[in-house]
Amino acid sequence: MATLEDRDRAVLWHPATHFADLDRLPPIAVDHARGCWLVDREGRRILDAISSWWTCVHGHGHPAIAAAIARQAALLDHVMFAGFTHEPAVALAEALLAAAPPGYGRVFFADCGSAAVEVALKLSFQRRRQSGEPGRTRFATLQNSYHGETLGALSLCGSGIYRDTFQPLLLDVLELPAPAFADHPPIPAGDLGAATPEADAAVALLEAHADTLTALVIEPLVQCAGRMAMPGVGYYRRIVEAAQARGIDVIADEIAVGFGRTGRMFASSWAGVTPDFLCLSKGLAGVLPLAAVLIRRGFEAAFAGAPARSFLHSHTFTGHPIGCAAALAGLELFAGDDGLLARLPARVTAMARRREQVAAACPAVVQHRQLGMIAAFQVDPARAPADGRLGLELRAAALARGVLLRPLHDTIYWMPPLVISDAELDTLAFATAATIRAVLGG
Ligand code: PMP
Repeated sequence: MATLEDRDRAVLWHPATHFADLDRLPPIAVDHARGCWLVDREGRRILDAISSWWTCVHGHGHPAIAAAIARQAALLDHVMFAGFTHEPAVALAEALLAAAPPGYGRVFFADCGSAAVEVALKLSFQRRRQSGEPGRTRFATLQNSYHGETLGALSLCGSGIYRDTFQPLLLDVLELPAPAFADHPPIPAGDLGAATPEADAAVALLEAHADTLTALVIEPLVQCAGRMAMPGVGYYRRIVEAAQARGIDVIADEIAVGFGRTGRMFASSWAGVTPDFLCLSKGLAGVLPLAAVLIRRGFEAAFAGAPARSFLHSHTFTGHPIGCAAALAGLELFAGDDGLLARLPARVTAMARRREQVAAACPAVVQHRQLGMIAAFQVDPARAPADGRLGLELRAAALARGVLLRPLHDTIYWMPPLVISDAELDTLAFATAATIRAVLGG
């Protein structure tokens, strides 16, 4: 009889996977998941050190979230969101506006991160056409950035590996330089990055192109897919303020860094700024696909008047009740004196200690850094295997040691559920060090 792996192989196309790599590292058939652990069909436990692509901030199978999903599924599973509304969507929008930096007035729901970015791009663009600024048609982005893979979002990726194949189809965007602090400290502080040549050059470009720019799209504090590059909180504050001072909308892509990842609910609050749009997904509903765009108060005024001025953008599952219910249950877990936000500083310190231990134990680690609950180790690429598949090799070695790591070429990173315990961090550190030594030498 065909195994699940054989049946998968016959009919599926997995994301970000080369067919030939399936021989080397076939997909693991997962049976169930709890907390920080995935369990395969043979009962083997795998520590999910990257929260299944940066999603489940409260871990897998959290009882409060699972119960909220079950309750909502039994009550109202789905209804289209044009012409209808429901309690979970309204309550979630209210809760997001209350938790966000001050200045937002409305929430537009979508169903994945890329879709949230598209919504923000189109809103910014359409408003210009309806408010007498039709010359503002371009977007600015940062070098090394990542904003998703639909064509609009892909245009904004400042990294050739995702973009080059599709270049003829993409928007012409303005790319701004950004610094990267190789030894960034866990807690964003002061003006780091504000007085760099990259910040000066970025501000000069914004100034020179202000008349044609509608929005700047930016990942606050960490360029996650860009090998966890950390440009500094001062850099972020400076270019947000520079853009807004010149009438350029700022679209903050907090899809990866929102919901506690940086040690605060939203990364933008470290910089004390309110971008015009805040794009959220991943940690929002954690285990279900949902996205939201928070929109600055009053923005909708430009959409009044003739019906043709309305925002004609709709995703079928917009405002999905079950996703909204899961997100609300997740938000509640952050709140209170013993809620997750209050417990985060201790988690960040615990992670920092293990990061130092791994770096000290592995001569192949040439740099390491952390911001909140995101830690990164850059290993010496000169020691890499000759076939250039360093990331794949490290991933396989980590899985053999019971840990899911998915290095970005020479950068191994940790982005576990925020609830990871000290004992689990010890397991993670031990397996990471063993992986690095096995692949790159001691
Ligand atoms: N923006 C950022 C910063 C991301 O990390 C991602 C996903 N890795 C996206 C956008 C796209 O999200 P999705 O994959 O849900 O479309």
